[in-house]
This record gives sequence, C-alpha cells and structure tokens, in this order.
Amino acid sequence: MNDIPTSESLRERLGRIVGARHILTDPDDVAPYCVEPRELYRGATQAVVLPGSTKEVAAILRLANETATPVVPQAGNTGLVGAQVPDETGREIVLSVARLDRIRDLDADGGTMVAEAGVILERVQEAAAEAGLFFPLSLGAQGSCRIGGNIATNAGGTGALAYGSMRELVLGLEVVLPTGEVWHGLRRLKKDNAGYDLKQLFIGSEGTLGVITAAVLKLFAAPRGRAVAFAGLASPQAALKLFRGARAAAGPALTGFEILSRTGLEFVTAHLPGARDPLAEPHPWYALLEVSSARSEVDAQAMLEEALTAALEAGTIADAAIAASLDQAAQFWRIRHGLAEVQRHEGGSIKHDVSVPVALIPEFIARAEEAVIRAVPGARPVPFGHMGDGNIHFNVSQPPGVDKAAFLARWEEVNAIVHGIVAEMGGSIAAEHGIGRLKRGLLAEVRRPLELDLMRRLKRALDPNGILNPGRVI
Ligand SMILES: Cc1cc2nc3c(=O)[nH]c(=O)nc-3n(C[C@H](O)[C@H](O)[C@H](O)COP(=O)(O)OP(=O)(O)OC[C@H]3O[C@@H](n4cnc5c(N)ncnc54)[C@H](O)[C@@H]3O)c2cc1C
Repeated sequence: MNDIPTSESLRERLGRIVGARHILTDPDDVAPYCVEPRELYRGATQAVVLPGSTKEVAAILRLANETATPVVPQAGNTGLVGAQVPDETGREIVLSVARLDRIRDLDADGGTMVAEAGVILERVQEAAAEAGLFFPLSLGAQGSCRIGGNIATNAGGTGALAYGSMRELVLGLEVVLPTGEVWHGLRRLKKDNAGYDLKQLFIGSEGTLGVITAAVLKLFAAPRGRAVAFAGLASPQAALKLFRGARAAAGPALTGFEILSRTGLEFVTAHLPGARDPLAEPHPWYALLEVSSARSEVDAQAMLEEALTAALEAGTIADAAIAASLDQAAQFWRIRHGLAEVQRHEGGSIKHDVSVPVALIPEFIARAEEAVIRAVPGARPVPFGHMGDGNIHFNVSQPPGVDKAAFLARWEEVNAIVHGIVAEMGGSIAAEHGIGRLKRGLLAEVRRPLELDLMRRLKRALDPNGILNPGRVI
C-alpha cells in the first residue's frame, strides 16, 4: 500500500478524477450530505465527490483503496439507519451517485429499464408509465430516494405485497468493487442459473460490498384500473380478518394492505396540511386497501366492493370509504405516506422496523403496546405499516409534556423490550430499513455465529482493506 497522502493531496487527486466543480469541500456545501433525515446521525467529511461516470467511480475507489481512505456511498440520503452519512471523524469521504442520473435504455417489449444509480425513484416510475408500463416500488421518500440507494437497502415499501421488495425487481447490476474493478453484470435475463447469483450479494448490502452504478429493472404491465379504500376497524385482529377476505376476493390483484392506529391518523390530520379523516366517526384502527386490475377500473372496484361488503356483513369492519376519484385515492395514500414524517411534531419518537409472521401481527401489537406503556407510562405507540408483509413500524412517541432528550435516552431500553417480543415470535428486527449504524450492535444477537462469520468472510474477500462503509452492518 502507498504512503497515505495528506488530505490536501487526496482532495487534489479526487478533484482531478471528477473535475473541480464536482468535489465539495466547503463546510456549507458538504453539510447536507453529513446529516440524515431523522438527524440521529450528524457527521463530518473532508470531501464529497460527485462522479459523472462508472469510470470515475472506479478511479475514486482505486485511489481510496490505495490510500486506505474510507468511502461512504450516498444516493438520495433518505435511509433510516444512518449508513449513508459519514462518521464524526472527518476522515470518511462521501461518494454521491447523484450525477449518475441517466436512464440508459427502456425496452418496452422485454419489460426492462436500465437506470443509473442516481435516478430518482419517481422518475423511474414516470418513465415506465410513459412507456405504458409500471414499476411497482413505491415509498414515502420516492421523490428523493434514488435507485442505487433502493437497491443497496433492498427497499420494500407499499408495493412489496404484490410485487416483492427491490430484490425481486432487479435483473442485473453494474457494480464498482472496493478495489476499483468494474463488474459488468447488466444482464436482462429472467432465467440465468450459470453459477452464483452475484447481484443478490450487492442488493441489500448497504454500500459495504461495492458501489452500484446502474441496474436492469423489471417493468410490469400497467394496471388498467385501481380502486382504493379506507376502512375503520376495532382492532388489528379485525384487520387480519379483512386481509384474509380481501386476498380471497382479489387474489394477486390485492396490491396494497396497510394499517394504522387512531393515534397515527390523529397525528396526520393534526400536522399534514390538508389531510382529513376519510370517515365520519373515529375508529381505533384503520386499513388502507388497494386493488389493481389488469382489465378495468370497474373490475378493480368490483373486487374491492366484494371484499368490503363481505367484511361489513360479517362485522369485521365498522365503516369504509372507497375513493371516488384518482385524487381521493391519492389523498388516502397521502395519509399513509405522511405517517413517517408527522411523528416529529409530537416530540421524540423511538422507532422499530420489525416483521413477524402475518398471522401474529395482532398478538405482537398487543404485547408490544402493553410492555412499552408499562415501562414508559404515558408513551404513545404509533404502530403502522405493511400488514400484508408482516412488517410493522412500531414507533413510540413520547408522553406529552415530558423532556424529549430524557425520553430518547431510553431508546435502547425500549428497543430491547420490543425486539425481545419480536424474537420470541420468530420475527426480524430489521424488516426493510436495514442495519446500518443504528442496529449494528444488535446484529450479533439475531444472527448465528456462522452467519456472522460468513458475512465477515464475504466482506474481507470483496473489500480486503475495509474502505467501503466501514462500521456499518457488519
Ligand atoms: C419518509 C420516508 C419513508 C420511507 N419509507 C420506506 C418504505 O416504505 N420502505 C423502505 O424500505 N424504506 C423506506 N424509507 C427508507 C429509505 O427511503 C430507503 O431505505 C431508500 O431505499 C434509501 O434510498 P436512498 O437513495 O435515499 O439511499 P441513501 O439513504 O443515500 O443510502 C442508503 C444506503 O445505501 C447505500 N448506498 C446508496 N447508494 C449506493 C450505491 N449506489 N451503491 C452502493 N450503496 C449505496 C448507502 O451507503 C446506505 O447504506 C423511507 C424513508 C423516508 C424518509
């Protein structure tokens, strides 16, 4: 390994790779890259580099590898486990893929799109729609998260119920390894059993094994009709019954099934401008259902109405509103997506992104609520999320009026309570947001020694000098 250069000369060499305009060193310019959405992690960096091509990414990583410079890949900076921002030392450089923002190709016949890592998710959705097709990944941050980040986190979101997480939406990848070698794996094949499926190693690796520069994404037939409903229910048990009934009525056409509690709805109507309760009376719980039909709007409505009518007759739901227009459907979804953002207006919030087998969700919510309130009297659980995937964001807002810092100081204690229940139920403590820095200390508790050892061996094999996202995940 070469001598470690001074920061000055490292910055000069990086500047020569990307051009002076595309390296940021001024504290004001780098500040937005150093803090993540929840402001739980705030770091420092000697430079943010914004390469404009795969070749430039390769040159940056070669230099970083030679000089043992730690590199933090960043895409849209919406990640929720702190993995995309530099640590406090100032040594780590940020490699932003924001300028890799071309859609290289869209093959409507083959149903594929080749998008670079910096393309914003919403642009991928729009480009697919313009071609009469559909890209199903959908999440609250879709206006700012980028495809590279979505792949590196194996993002889930609300479309995962019918179409799967990002892992199932990627056919091929182009990746720069920590050594600067480029893996050209942009294959468009649905079937390809020639050896190990290398792309799956990088999907969900949270920037620790390579920098994704482009991907072949799967596109789907655009549904011809969509129907969305908001239903009021007595309990998560009733939501589970409704889910079974909706699946029986719509089968794979059930493309969304989300739940939220009354507390969550009240937070949204209080803090999200223009948001209103879709139902006349308050209910303890709500479900948002979406049915998509390959045939027509009428067909989608018919399936949804069948599910809701049966549920009303059986007493599973107390009331429901079916969106009468696309605009109203968007308003229902806005309530659900707004939940992630509004909690900060209610003071401190301790987060959990967990999954349990779908049928155990009611029991999980009941046990976790009871245990958390026993430990922190007055705490307000705000469980919500992708019930159809068994994935609940079990967030806990502080008791009104207490000191925010004192409440947040109990983060690990509350985590331990909730994660303990998850473990007893055979669930996961990191359902869709990943491990990052936030949950790194917990990985050893939920993975067997051999699994941890295999992860470390993989990391060492691909990143022998440990330069890529050190201190994250493993
Ligand atoms: C309001 C809101 C709602 C959200 N809802 C959901 C949801 O429903 N489902 C869900 O799964 N997530 C959700 N998230 C979390 C977040 O949006 C996702 O994790 C998203 O996929 C991150 O994409 P990003 O472009 O912002 O990546 P970043 O935050 O920039 O990076 C995330 C991780 O990927 C790595 N990385 C980034 N780019 C690359 C690359 N090119 N190559 C290698 N590694 C890279 C980073 O180092 C980091 O480890 C939500 C976040 C917010 C703020």
